[in-house]
Amino acid sequence: MKIQHIRLGKVRIPLKKPFKTALREVFFAEDIIVQVVADTGEVGFGNAPPTLVITGDGQQSVAAAIQEVLAPKLMGMDVENLEGIMTTIQGALHHNYSAKAAMDIAVHDLFCKRYGMPLQRFLGGYRQSLQTDLTISVNAPEEMVEDSLAAVAAGYRELKIKVGTDAALDLKRVQAIRQAVGSDIQLRLDANQGWKAKEAVRTIRCFEDKGLDVELVEQPVAAHDFAGLKYVTENVETNIMADEAAFGPVEVFQLLSMRACDLISIKLMKAGGIYNAVKILNLAETMGVECMMSCMLESNVGITAAASLAAARKNITRADLDAAVLLAEEPVVGGVSYAGNQILLSEASGLGITEVLGWEEI
Ligand code: MG
Repeated sequence: MKIQHIRLGKVRIPLKKPFKTALREVFFAEDIIVQVVADTGEVGFGNAPPTLVITGDGQQSVAAAIQEVLAPKLMGMDVENLEGIMTTIQGALHHNYSAKAAMDIAVHDLFCKRYGMPLQRFLGGYRQSLQTDLTISVNAPEEMVEDSLAAVAAGYRELKIKVGTDAALDLKRVQAIRQAVGSDIQLRLDANQGWKAKEAVRTIRCFEDKGLDVELVEQPVAAHDFAGLKYVTENVETNIMADEAAFGPVEVFQLLSMRACDLISIKLMKAGGIYNAVKILNLAETMGVECMMSCMLESNVGITAAASLAAARKNITRADLDAAVLLAEEPVVGGVSYAGNQILLSEASGLGITEVLGWEEI
């Protein structure tokens, strides 16, 4: 099975409500979809949501990386030589992790279709379903309470609460939510780099003193501030998770060597695809550090790939794969399905995706 043709298109998906974090506010999810077509006619699907504020990848840069660099190098390569294709993708150009992830996912999809197995089974086959959290956007405390109660009513047991805009207000937000949802619901916080190291320690200790039972705090300080992250980790009882700091295997190796965090958040778009995400996972597992599988605001192509890896491996103990739930419509046919807070893996080969509706070729 040889790679014969690579098609690129985009979809623009309205959200149920605006998505707000300490870094940004968005009203639409935009995703670039890649189709890698083999000489057998089989199609592998991949995606690259242009998320400039986090990955630095925009629509034009993703398209240029694929059309000018990756596609010419991969054309004619044997899909059976997965290692050859993966090392070619990773070595082809600097940065551009989303473009690499799109090609990596599409080739994994084709490879699994070639051998007639679901991607989840190829990657380890540990579980058939996952439990995901739901993200609560950062807003006024009353609105966040309302969103949290709606999430609990819909069956979610874990809420990922966006904070980090103002430490004093963040305390009020979490207090109000804890009071409203009771003690059985897990609250994980994501500060999205919103605090300075000492401010983070002060704020998190305050959560601890008030008995708010916060499960973990994601990326309290700036992505590049590894020393600050380590300072926070060492000075609070709450588990600290690296997200924007933990891009690829090299950054994760550094963070783990420094013992700068307790947990790692893996995203295919930061890692540059499944191949590197597995390396991160193996590094963390070796060091006894659990991982959470997370996502960008993206279509079900990337969610299915991420869920397949999360379900496949034991050391991915948490899933933050709620993007599809935030979308008002889903252009992807096939892939994972949802039942309340459960993500159900497909038994079909590869990602199990057959079509992406309404895509505009680029
Ligand atoms: Mg995060």
